[in-house]
Amino acid sequence: MSLPTSRQVAIQAIARAEYKLDRVDFQKVHAKDLFGCLVFNEATQRERLPKNVYQALRRTIKEGAPLNPEVADAVAAAMKDWAIEKGATHFTHQFQPMTGLTAEKHDSFLVPTGDGRAIAEFSGKELIRGEPDASSFPSGGIRATFEARGYTAWDPTSPAYIFENPNGSTLVIPTAFVSWTHEALDKKTPLLKSMDALSKQALRILRLFGRSDVKRVFTTVGPEQEYFLIDKNFYYARPDLINAGRTLFGAPPPKGQELEDQYFGSIPERVLACMADCEAQLFKLGVPVKTRHNEVAPSQYEIAPSFEDSNLATDHQMLIMEILKRTAPKYGLACLLHEKPFAGINGSGKHNNWSMSTDTGENLLEPGSTPHDNAQFLVFCVAVIRAVSRYPELLRVAVASAGNDHRLGANEAPPAIISVFLGSQLQDVIEQLEKGTATSTKSGGTLDIGVSVLPKIPRDAGDRNRTSPFAFTGNKFEFRAVGASQSIAGPNTVLNTIVAESLDFMATRLENAVRDGKDLNTAIKELLPPIIRESKKILFMGDNYSAEWYAEAERRGLPNLKNTVDALPVVIRKDTIELFSKYGVYSERELQSRFNILCENYIKTINVEARLTGYMGRTMILPAALRYQSEVAQAVNTVKQAGVDASDQVELLRHLTMAISDLQKALTKLQHEMDHPHGDVYDHAKHMRDRVLPAMNEVRRTADYLETIVADDLWPIPTYREMLFIK
Ligand code: ADP
Ligand code: MG
Repeated sequence: MSLPTSRQVAIQAIARAEYKLDRVDFQKVHAKDLFGCLVFNEATQRERLPKNVYQALRRTIKEGAPLNPEVADAVAAAMKDWAIEKGATHFTHQFQPMTGLTAEKHDSFLVPTGDGRAIAEFSGKELIRGEPDASSFPSGGIRATFEARGYTAWDPTSPAYIFENPNGSTLVIPTAFVSWTHEALDKKTPLLKSMDALSKQALRILRLFGRSDVKRVFTTVGPEQEYFLIDKNFYYARPDLINAGRTLFGAPPPKGQELEDQYFGSIPERVLACMADCEAQLFKLGVPVKTRHNEVAPSQYEIAPSFEDSNLATDHQMLIMEILKRTAPKYGLACLLHEKPFAGINGSGKHNNWSMSTDTGENLLEPGSTPHDNAQFLVFCVAVIRAVSRYPELLRVAVASAGNDHRLGANEAPPAIISVFLGSQLQDVIEQLEKGTATSTKSGGTLDIGVSVLPKIPRDAGDRNRTSPFAFTGNKFEFRAVGASQSIAGPNTVLNTIVAESLDFMATRLENAVRDGKDLNTAIKELLPPIIRESKKILFMGDNYSAEWYAEAERRGLPNLKNTVDALPVVIRKDTIELFSKYGVYSERELQSRFNILCENYIKTINVEARLTGYMGRTMILPAALRYQSEVAQAVNTVKQAGVDASDQVELLRHLTMAISDLQKALTKLQHEMDHPHGDVYDHAKHMRDRVLPAMNEVRRTADYLETIVADDLWPIPTYREMLFIK
């Protein structure tokens, strides 16, 4: 008897495992008392800071007023005392470099006093600015080595919090990360700039409507995170999951998701326990997680928070991913955030629910009940439609990644063609508006169209089109093409900027008309129809998965950037540079650097996958196949020696030998393609897409076939039927 394979060891371990599931006790501490207890939030600031300091800090947070050094010192001192009471020993400036992850370097509060003792110190300077020696983060060419350092700058609009660890906690200070030449090296800086740009333009529109009470408009985001949880014993037996985040091998399971018995089904106990633990931790961190459920694919789940302003929502989204990843192993699970961990079944996305809201709490995409409100709603709504119709490629490239390429357009996620779904009610209103008949009335009096006599547009939650990449869902738009592992900062930066551009355009037109003596309603009635006419090619009500739509989209001239490599050049196109420079979101140099980083990320991702494919193919799959081949060869001999006709066994051997040789040929070909990259960074990316990926797929095809014929007891890696269904 040979030794058990790591796959068999994994299954035995799972069968024997007992897990400690009761780690949180909501009876002892109610969720509402947990909420925000580790956050230096407004309530804590009020309680802990002298009144004048508190007020100065709030002004900084609300209005961006600069913070003077004494105030910063006072805030830092209070923050430190609070953190130490909560068990913190260290502080860190956390930032979001272009890796798409978060980064942090911890510093102790302790300072030696010279007499052999130490005291805890934390100054305003340390709070406001940090200098991590972070020269190894991707800068896409912005930083030469002589200026390789950037600095982190405190973002007071995202409150500091305590990240707990069994052996001492850390005070985490959210920061922006910029180079000494002031270029953004991170994802937060452009997001904050795009929020400012949108606020400025939205305020111009609101002023026209007489809204002098509003001081700032925020974009709001509620991101729904899809993820997989599989047993960690399987995870550790799969080098591809560990190193690439997705399976590079695996024959389709006999049972997939066709029975649709998973979606919204009852959540397995161990998974539910893990979810509740994650939620308890997230509550403490002030992340308003709200919804949990099973998703469509087996072992796939979703977690969604209530919406918050885009900056906070982005920071919280990073925390959600972090907590999911950290907590799963405590329950013997591994959390997979990749866009497509398993071929052939649904991948994971992040639905980015997006809207605009005033600082007085009014959602600008909420259809109103009065004609006045409705006119305002329509201006903002048409601004979004116009933005998407003018810049669909920017939205496309904002979600481009090697991982998301497996998902977009795979008939489970929206296609790479960006279109907008409005729902039948709103679509009807927009169509009527387009005709420009300001007060056209549907006979029977059910529908009065016209800016001044608009009907109440009902919230139309039932009218959903799950296939649309960008759908109006009653009081917000849902951008569904975002990948599960992605930071939502990039997509929201694009969304905010393109809508800011539309609002700018519309505000200018309206301001001019009003200045010329037109009344606002007339000005709006004249403004909207041509915009709708020019934008309506982006509106699509039908099935986005259908072949007809691909043909129709082409007729309409909508771009179909099928993969990351097709999409990337959009980043450095002249019109992109003009747009982002105009609103101060990205400079040309920053866009060039981001283009380089995106190309490099793509190349590196495929390269890791290709190496893993070669490694697993040669050292795990081929040996298993060869062992089986020799078993069959022995069987042939034994049968022959026994004087029995062995032609069926010979046939099997021949067949198997052919499959093995196909695998070997495919491995050789893959190695050859990997050894021959060429050209600049973009050519290299193309080479990865056009030569390396297909070569990988060919290795996979031959290996997956072998999985279906090699003796099960020899197969070394956990199979789809096991990973997805043993819970
Ligand atoms: P579903 O899309 O699953 O039916 P909901 O429509 O209730 O669920 O909400 C989904 C997400 O949309 C939640 O994260 C929610 O917080 C978010 N959301 C709701 N209103 C807004 C808004 N005004 N701005 C941004 N996100 C919002
Ligand atoms: Mg949704």
